[in-house]
Amino acid sequence: DSYYDADADTGLLADKTITFIGFGNQGSAQAENIRDSGVANDRIIIANRDDRYADEAKSKGFNVEPDFSKAASLADIIFLLIPDQAQPRLFNEIIVPVLRKNATIVVASGYNVFFGLLKVPPSNNVVMVAPRMMGSSVRSLYQKGRGFPCFVSTEQDGTGDAHAIALAISKAIGATKAGAIESSVREETAMDLFAEQALWPNIIALFREGFSVLKDAGCSDEALCYEMWMSKEPAEIFEAAADDGFVQQLKRHSVVSQYGQLSGALALDGTGIREHFRNILHNQILNGKFCEKFSQIEGELELEGSANPLNQLYSRSKEMELVKAEARVRERLAQLRRDA
Ligand code: NDP
Repeated sequence: DSYYDADADTGLLADKTITFIGFGNQGSAQAENIRDSGVANDRIIIANRDDRYADEAKSKGFNVEPDFSKAASLADIIFLLIPDQAQPRLFNEIIVPVLRKNATIVVASGYNVFFGLLKVPPSNNVVMVAPRMMGSSVRSLYQKGRGFPCFVSTEQDGTGDAHAIALAISKAIGATKAGAIESSVREETAMDLFAEQALWPNIIALFREGFSVLKDAGCSDEALCYEMWMSKEPAEIFEAAADDGFVQQLKRHSVVSQYGQLSGALALDGTGIREHFRNILHNQILNGKFCEKFSQIEGELELEGSANPLNQLYSRSKEMELVKAEARVRERLAQLRRDA
């Protein structure tokens, strides 16, 4: 199901105080869209520490409240728009104790709700309004009078009208113009984490191995880097897939290419990959294993240098032949620019 402008009534927001926790990517875009949709500025509070994000909100005329507890205590609707890993602590420790009985919590990602990391009292609403776009596009498409793909769902209905509020919010941020898609935190989390933990790791590994095989066969660093990604051809292929169709875009390629790609893909037995993917989805993502492991290391991600597990992964990735070759190519390009 999709919901359009006619399905939603932004009048439901008229008497509500709306607090945005966070004024980053999504927070700034959604707050500006909501205000431009007619929600009075004096009903919008931006909760942010007193820093550059707060300055930006003030420069755009918003009321900024550095005291999260106060900002949350006044709110009928709370947009939780800080990074996912920072949400549980702030929400459970600072927001829950002051939460109004019937306040609506809005998340833009399913992760923390699906894995039960937010301790929301039963009298509150929890809705997901999750744009499938970066904040800058959420804002620019709204300004152009166009919508953007967005998932919407009602996860907890404490007041009996949570769904109507979710749709009103979707309309006010500009999502129902293009049709907001009915979803759930389970679906959103499954697809998001699957792309991150199954699909893209395999794509990265395919490029890594493909690069090495061609390099062994005598192809040069430059030729390989440009052939495989630096020409931006893969980006163009995905754009054509979105415009023409996943398979139909092949018709933009030569007949040799079309024949090679289709016959090759259809001949591949995907059973092993499917089993591998199922295993990741069920035994790593949906069963909460990844979430549990990530919660354990999450604090270490703020550490400097090699104590940070993400930095360790980046260090290891430097051993990939593809990465080494690309570094050589980029250094040669930089040298050429310096010499020019
Ligand atoms: P950002 O990284 O842009 O958030 C930055 C904001 O969060 C700033 O206001 C920052 O203020 C604040 N913040 C960061 N850490 C903390 C903290 N520990 N305590 C309090 N405030 C903090 O987030 P996004 O907009 O990218 O993401 C917000 C939500 O939107 C997430 O749930 C994300 O999954 C979802 N989403 C994001 C999309 C995207 O394109 N980025 C797309 C769709 C959904 P300060 O540093 O001053 O504390």
